[in-house]
Amino acid sequence: MTYYSLNRKAPETTFKDAVIRGLAPDKGLYFPKEISPLPKAFFATIAHKTNHEIAFEAIKQFVGTEIPEPILKSIIEETLNFNFPIINLNDQISILELFHGQTMAFKDVGARFMARCLGFFNRNNNNEVTVLVATSGDTGGAVANGFLGVKGVNVVILYPSGKVSKIQEKQLTTLGKNITAIEVDGVFDDCQDMVKRAFVDTDLTSTMQLTSANSINIARWLPQLFYYLFAYKALKPKYDDIVFCVPSGNYGNICAGMVAQKLGLPVEHFVAANNANDAVVRYMDTKTYNPKPSMATLSNAMDVGNPSNFVRIQELYNNSFEDLKSHLSTFSFSDTETEGAILELFNAHNYIADPHGAIGYLGAKAYLKKNPKAHTVVLETAHPTKFLDVVKRVIQNKVEIPVQIRAIMDKPKSSIKIATYKELKALLLES
Ligand SMILES: *Cc1c(COP(=O)(O)O)cnc(C)c1O
Repeated sequence: MTYYSLNRKAPETTFKDAVIRGLAPDKGLYFPKEISPLPKAFFATIAHKTNHEIAFEAIKQFVGTEIPEPILKSIIEETLNFNFPIINLNDQISILELFHGQTMAFKDVGARFMARCLGFFNRNNNNEVTVLVATSGDTGGAVANGFLGVKGVNVVILYPSGKVSKIQEKQLTTLGKNITAIEVDGVFDDCQDMVKRAFVDTDLTSTMQLTSANSINIARWLPQLFYYLFAYKALKPKYDDIVFCVPSGNYGNICAGMVAQKLGLPVEHFVAANNANDAVVRYMDTKTYNPKPSMATLSNAMDVGNPSNFVRIQELYNNSFEDLKSHLSTFSFSDTETEGAILELFNAHNYIADPHGAIGYLGAKAYLKKNPKAHTVVLETAHPTKFLDVVKRVIQNKVEIPVQIRAIMDKPKSSIKIATYKELKALLLES
């Protein structure tokens, strides 16, 4: 499969090269040159396929021959080593739980897939690759966990000091080995800016192979399309057309769902639900894209002022505002509304949601107001215990802590504090 840069000033390249580079040399995001719909029979017979078979069929064309089929199959099996249950709240709303993996957020899917692809590409290479990644909360843990112990790969994670939850911080600062956590005095956008600067800093790129593991990397972004297909498989007997409601920050997850739609998945509509960081909501209202610095909210993994993947979404809909508008609705919700939704889900449905999933639920309700016949599927992107303080305070009830989380609670944190890009650069050069 050939990939091109969305800035269109870099040469086209292979899956392998795009995965290793992360970002194209012209700083553009990579995008597949062609997306061929899957055969109609694939969707007609989906009920008889396993999740691993579905994922393999769906991702095959994006990888091409660069990973041999048996290896790609085992990468998929190792990536998808957990379940994706659907909870039916009522005739209008189902919840797709994406948090049953190692770090209890959907990012485990992309991180595990990417780590294994990179490990394969790097298998005979004596030069180490450094994965540099900025996290607003969940990426860090998923990437750290996915890459832990992968040969020939060092991982450096930047996170905004004091702006991730306690458990999120534990997940990325307690692993050691090939994982280094850097605590930045600033917000997520500062971390992301430092990462972007490092990728174009020739002092660094001439001495080391840097790559990213943010959703800008195609190997993290694309496998996220898998569970949209799983949801279709589970709901097909009852609901033909689904509306997916995706709590969105960097817009990688929802954009992967849109790729699934290009593959032929019947999707009635997409809803992107945002917190106060609403650059895309304002764009859809005004046709003017005017990103702002990110603001801290209860749903911190969505505190993104300038969503990187939005350019991919525009490309998918041929850069046509009208086309996009007919496929995507967007809403923004405050922290107070988020708390209200957590409480409502608990009281009315006995369901404990995390703040991100709660925003997805609000998005579904907003969409249903105008489209009462729709069936919406809310993507619950993280386990509620990752945001224990908020959830406990709101529902005034105990939340059971799963084993994955209990295992890291008492481990000592280890991080390096920095405030400037200069400090990051010095650290990378000395390593
Ligand atoms: C990362 C994350 C999001 C946002 O996903 P994007 O792909 O950045 O839009 C939403 N919820 C949780 C729990 C996350 O970790």
